[in-house]
Amino acid sequence: MMQLPGGLMVNGERRRDFEFREMTGELERILCEPSVPKQGYVSSHAERVTHVLSQILASIGGQSATREIVNALSVGDRQFLMRQLSVYIDDRPVWLTAACRQCAEKFDVSFRHSELPVKPAGEHYPSWEIAVSLGQVIVCVPTGNDQLAIAEIVDHQQAMRRLITRLVKRKGCRRQFEAVEPEQLTVEDIERIEAAAEAMSPEIATELSADCPNCHAQNRLTVTPYGCFELSADTLFQEVHSIAMHYHWSERDILSLPSTRRQHYLQLIDHGRGMADHRHLAHGGLHG
Ligand SMILES: [Zn+2]
Repeated sequence: MMQLPGGLMVNGERRRDFEFREMTGELERILCEPSVPKQGYVSSHAERVTHVLSQILASIGGQSATREIVNALSVGDRQFLMRQLSVYIDDRPVWLTAACRQCAEKFDVSFRHSELPVKPAGEHYPSWEIAVSLGQVIVCVPTGNDQLAIAEIVDHQQAMRRLITRLVKRKGCRRQFEAVEPEQLTVEDIERIEAAAEAMSPEIATELSADCPNCHAQNRLTVTPYGCFELSADTLFQEVHSIAMHYHWSERDILSLPSTRRQHYLQLIDHGRGMADHRHLAHGGLHG
């Protein structure tokens, strides 16, 4: 199993290990839910990621994956885990259709989630003391908690200001950390802070390049880290339906099966059906 490109600080030690649970229909159902069920409000994308990861991870950094721990992961690690989940569920080649930016010709590109590059965290991860016009400040990598804190701010500028106050701290007197207001920082300071955060942050590729087979122009295609959110609930329900019809098991029992076993039963049902059709034809019956 791969390791987190960033990792979690556990008792002063950087831990990069994680383990997924065995996949079941129930976990697949959670992936298919468009948002976290909460009364009277639509959850943010970051909340959905936290919800899914806290259900699907068996452990992270040697601990159980509580919501608090999943929220404390760096943004890069959270994206990495979502992509690893796609690899874990199904690493067959994925096909993308692109329209060439040069000649507009459509072409298909295939890739595997496991082949997409990962940039490990920089050496100062997860926080780095740098000099700005105010003096020394500590810059932290953005985490799930930071994503959640700005999820509901619509204005981009305002969201950025909020993020800076969360990620940048100044060592005050008596070694206490003080918040830094964005107004205290110059444009150069902000550039330096952004560069430090970027150098530290782990990252996964969200683009791949492909040459157009027609005009050979290089095209950049977007590849989402959240491919497993595109699983179809309809397919899952159809599978549950087939097994329920055949074996008369309850929905709950079928969803609790490991996904590989559910697939095995579906194959058996299909096989049985094939055999039945075959017998039917062999006896010359074509009615029905
Ligand atoms: Zn082209």
